[in-house]
Amino acid sequence: PGAGPAPAKKVEPPPEDDTKLREPRPPIVCVLGHVNHGKTTLLDAIRKTNVVAGEAGGITQHTGAYQIEHKDHKITFLDTPGHAAFSKMRERGANITDIAVLVVAADDGFMPQTEEALSFAQKAGVPVIVAINKMDAKGANLDRVKQAMQQHGITSEDWGGETLCEPVSALKGQNVDKLLDAILLQAEVLELKANPKCPAEGVVIDSQVEMGRGATATVIVEKGTLKPGDALVCGAHYCKVRAMVNDRGEPLKSVPPGTPARLLGWSGAPDAGAQFHTCKNDRAAKAEAEAAERELRQVSHAENVVERVADLNALLAAIKETKQKVFRCVIKGDVHGTVEALEACLMDIKSEKVQMEIVAADVGPVSPNDVIMASAAGAAVIAFNVKLENGVASTAKHKGVRVIQHDIIYELLNQVREAMAELLDPELRENKIGAAEVRQVFPLAKGFVAGCMVTEGRVTRAGHARILRKGATLYTGKVDTLKRFKDDASEVRAGFECGLHLGGFEDYQPGDIIESFEILQMKASL
Ligand code: GDP
Repeated sequence: PGAGPAPAKKVEPPPEDDTKLREPRPPIVCVLGHVNHGKTTLLDAIRKTNVVAGEAGGITQHTGAYQIEHKDHKITFLDTPGHAAFSKMRERGANITDIAVLVVAADDGFMPQTEEALSFAQKAGVPVIVAINKMDAKGANLDRVKQAMQQHGITSEDWGGETLCEPVSALKGQNVDKLLDAILLQAEVLELKANPKCPAEGVVIDSQVEMGRGATATVIVEKGTLKPGDALVCGAHYCKVRAMVNDRGEPLKSVPPGTPARLLGWSGAPDAGAQFHTCKNDRAAKAEAEAAERELRQVSHAENVVERVADLNALLAAIKETKQKVFRCVIKGDVHGTVEALEACLMDIKSEKVQMEIVAADVGPVSPNDVIMASAAGAAVIAFNVKLENGVASTAKHKGVRVIQHDIIYELLNQVREAMAELLDPELRENKIGAAEVRQVFPLAKGFVAGCMVTEGRVTRAGHARILRKGATLYTGKVDTLKRFKDDASEVRAGFECGLHLGGFEDYQPGDIIESFEILQMKASL
């Protein structure tokens, strides 16, 4: 060894985010777009055609994320299409998506959810690549989509803008490889890097409780590298990593940054969107999780106390606002992530007249027990992407519990909105059907009758009427006598004379206008 200062031995470990320690990592991509524009089909097409070499076979499971290899580069896809899941994750501060693929069906063009998804991505500062899907379909119109892109400020590259855009057919697998090229190109621009050597940290994408396997969670590592045996904490749950598998159930030896894996060995199912980190050992992980749980309990205890104090006020307010209706529901969904996304969407339904109250939310098929619980709470059951167990339909009928079930969130929410609106009393609306002018007043044995000329529409005996004198309403009531000459009539049309009497009014004068109207019951809206 020659002269020169000996390399200083670093005592402190360098900050783990030191840029020199960072290495390139795969991009994390989510797929957004309007319902039925082909998000699921695209995710399946990408997964099918690009299985990482040598890993063919195995049963694929939709557990929230998967990784493919394209031209020697890895790409990670979030496998929960739809922006509800995306926005829920962001709400928790999990800013995990690097690139958003906005799927637009070429035969349908930009739709409300397309715009919503675009604005989500833009607000999150996530670059968008547009996949113009269904190019094989009749009525596919590429230029119309590009025009809409231009109108929304994401002009396609070939139109002089900066947004990558690829016409594809997810159904036929056409041009999907070009879309993947575009993703790699965008990823290169973003220069995505992370330190693979520090203790692992990341985000929970989804979790489920499986028969015989206990709680499992799909995570994406953000930095560091996960290995079997690692001890993790995520909120009130901890995990001694017993096994790590990919979306095909194949074991993984290590999970570097930007990579998804399903982890076995959790104490319970952590929340989608929650952050996890590595601990020294199992004991430390368990202790930290238990401390977090105690804290949670204290918070909820404190909330209880506050609630009780607030009770009296709430009661008073409730008496004042007896008009406020409550729509209660029990939620069932296929996986943790969708249940949470659904809860968020339901709470998002804005109505001043009906309040949404979620009684319970859980993963799994709808069981007769769910129906019994809903019945006890006066609630409806809302089922997303899950089946009804045997006996549910009959129990629901017997107990009078409404079960709203759909596999498309958009449709499900529409049905919920309708059910909420049904709680409201119908709105009454007046519909003018005609008018008559008083020409003469005839005395009767008791009181008077107005001799009128019907001037417009018709006057009916079944309807209501109001008397106007010089534009001011004198009286409103039910018609109790309507006569054509001496005979009772059910209605008299314009151009004919009639005798009219309203219950409870006697002071008719020539020149008064009698307006005839009916009251319609309109379905109330939220
Ligand atoms: P998502 O709601 O956005 O996930 O849409 P899906 O993937 O469920 O697709 C909705 C419908 O469009 C399904 O019937 C698909 O078969 C169909 N579809 C999806 N991609 C294509 C495509 O490239 N071409 C055609 N013709 N149909 C497609």
